[in-house]
Amino acid sequence: MSLERTTGLILKSIKYSDTDRIITCYTHKYGKIQCIAKRARRQKSNFLSNIDLLTYAELVIVKKGIKNIYPLREAVIIQSYHRLYEDPPRLYAAFYMAELIQELTPAEDKKPEILSLILRQLDMLQKGEDREKLTLIFEVRLLSLLGYQPQLEKCLFCLAPVESSKMGFIPSMGGIVCQSCCQKKHISCPSISLGSLNFLRQAIKFPLNKTDRLCLTSSNRKELLSLLHAFITYHLCREIRSYRFIQLNC
Ligand SMILES: [Zn+2]
Repeated sequence: MSLERTTGLILKSIKYSDTDRIITCYTHKYGKIQCIAKRARRQKSNFLSNIDLLTYAELVIVKKGIKNIYPLREAVIIQSYHRLYEDPPRLYAAFYMAELIQELTPAEDKKPEILSLILRQLDMLQKGEDREKLTLIFEVRLLSLLGYQPQLEKCLFCLAPVESSKMGFIPSMGGIVCQSCCQKKHISCPSISLGSLNFLRQAIKFPLNKTDRLCLTSSNRKELLSLLHAFITYHLCREIRSYRFIQLNC
């Protein structure tokens, strides 16, 4: 039996039986894994009953399981983000970020930057920072870490550097297109302003701990929420379930 210790954030927890739960977490050592937490529901005093969604914990797992579902033997809370539970709009934004990781990342593909990204955004959410700005930064940085970084520097077709105030964004191709190519190729797509483009470029390039300095106007905010939603929905071929809850709480 091989006991392994790692830190991880709980992304999802579902009932498996009357006493057991299947927990999905994003861990520092192994990326996204699934664990089975036995007796998690019956024994209220058991350490496993303390594991709520969005708990960041030190985990002890048995790295041998059926269908790669590893028994979870111990969990010690490092950060619980419990204050988010008192503020539903912020809580739903946090659930949305957790669901994006759960849906977009392959199992056991280790990228510690993803864990650092969501922990930073959860910290900032709990501190009361701009919820929508944190969500947009999270979306575009996560997409970039997973190899889906949108093309934001050149027109997808003619490769001309695009700096005019009116451009298009094609969600299915993940990039921008100039007005000339839109007309020549009869492309109909949503437009993206230079302000929104610059926000995305900076959101990707800035050091993570300085992204709170980025400015976001109300028109750029509305435009980007819609464009990134279309881009993510295209890649997933469906909508993220918790997206409608963040919409209701805008
Ligand atoms: Zn072009």
